[in-house]
Amino acid sequence: MNKEIWAKFKARVKNQVNDQYYELYLENMSCRSMTENEWVVCLPDRATLNMVESSFYDRLCNIMHDVLKDEGITSEVVLDLSLEGENAEEQKKQTPGCLPLMGLNRVTDVSTPDDSKAAFRISSTYASFDTAAAVRLREESHLNTNYTFDSFIKGGSNEMAYCAAKAVASNPGGAYNPLFIYGGVGLGKTHLMHAIGNEILQTSNLRVRYMTSEEFTNEYRDALQKGKMPEFRIKVRQNCDVLLLDDIQFIEKRVETQNEFFNVFNEMTQNNKQIVLTSDRPPKEIKDLSDRLQSRFMQGLMVDIQLPEFETRLEIIRKKSRAERFFIPDDIAQYIASKVNSNIRELEGCIKRIKMAANNHEISMALAQRVIEPFYQTRTVLVDANMIIECVCRYFGITHEQMMSKTRAKPIAHPRQIAMYLARSHTSLSYPDLERIFERDHTTVIHAVTKIKEELTKKDAYLEMDIKRLEDELFNSTNRR
Ligand code: ADP
Ligand code: MG
Repeated sequence: MNKEIWAKFKARVKNQVNDQYYELYLENMSCRSMTENEWVVCLPDRATLNMVESSFYDRLCNIMHDVLKDEGITSEVVLDLSLEGENAEEQKKQTPGCLPLMGLNRVTDVSTPDDSKAAFRISSTYASFDTAAAVRLREESHLNTNYTFDSFIKGGSNEMAYCAAKAVASNPGGAYNPLFIYGGVGLGKTHLMHAIGNEILQTSNLRVRYMTSEEFTNEYRDALQKGKMPEFRIKVRQNCDVLLLDDIQFIEKRVETQNEFFNVFNEMTQNNKQIVLTSDRPPKEIKDLSDRLQSRFMQGLMVDIQLPEFETRLEIIRKKSRAERFFIPDDIAQYIASKVNSNIRELEGCIKRIKMAANNHEISMALAQRVIEPFYQTRTVLVDANMIIECVCRYFGITHEQMMSKTRAKPIAHPRQIAMYLARSHTSLSYPDLERIFERDHTTVIHAVTKIKEELTKKDAYLEMDIKRLEDELFNSTNRR
């Protein structure tokens, strides 16, 4: 095994992955073998392996290929993930359906007997499940079975929230308690919350309960008026191991509900029962939320979901239309993705409207435009690559010649990368189009776009501000025309 190559690989992974995730999932990976056609990368336990497989595998492959390319190795190499330890294969066999328990700093396999912090010992085989009991648990959960991790489309804008939700689903009551997911409407908060619940129901016999905060408030008031508080408390606290409370901003200004929820919160978290909350804004921005609740909300893990970027929107259009058994040609999908850039619920609505308008006929660009334009006329404006290049040059004070030059000096290369990213996000131009426009090769363009995206996911505040100002400038100045 070539230690140098492995070190380069790990350094690059560290560089490209959000620090929190690197420490949590990737820092401990090791290399079992490295041949000219296969790398076997080991992870310390099954939970980490699952996580890396579902969330980082493609990225690891790309990085491996980049590293090998730098070394002048161009043969096909496959990256294989495996469990650490000689008896990895055996471990796989021994723990069917067994759910690993995950800690914040270390990941612990469920087979480790002394994990005293874990509240629930999750049943190690599915076989012990009584079907009738499982049906009852499902009914009582009030979960929507369509909202699963499988049907959730990942992208830069929701990756953090997805990973956090996955981690909670594989270790309820563990390190991330409560999990607080926030973001604008229609971005997938409720979907992720149900996905957590559905996965927990499938892999354990824990009692999951989904409620909107409005339901919580109404049921609480009702119980109070009818003298049924004991029943309410049994239902929400005792007969529940995982509480999913949607749209918690609803309890702002409701002092009594907040008090009740504070008690629910304390009792449940003290017993290592999982709480997941969603909100359209972070706790600090929920008006008149008591300080003690605010600090409780922030004691676990807070993640936000952002507006989906062009790539994710495109992927959503492709997958959702396929699910609707409706074929949308790629140029039309790109058109929709460039126009409908608000939220995923609206994207879904557009697909349905176009499907209805097409009425079992083949869809044309004219038809898509007819359906979409009236809704997005005022909000979205079409920008082209030249407008973006001009705008970025003006913003960074560089000339058009510098932008198009081959220089790699940071003051020029950075704006150029931003221009490529903006062109990719706000136009329907493909990578080959961008290669032509920017007179660069394939890898340079992809590298530029990926780099900016990754820096944005790492929450680079200066970059975020530059991009936001450029977008304002672009769309507002275009609006004024
Ligand atoms: P929120 O609770 O943030 O307002 P929802 O979870 O209700 O948003 O999502 C709105 C709609 O968009 C739902 O139908 C949901 O399934 C869908 N949706 C949101 N995000 C995604 C995603 N990443 N992948 C697939 N569908 C999504
Ligand atoms: Mg919601």
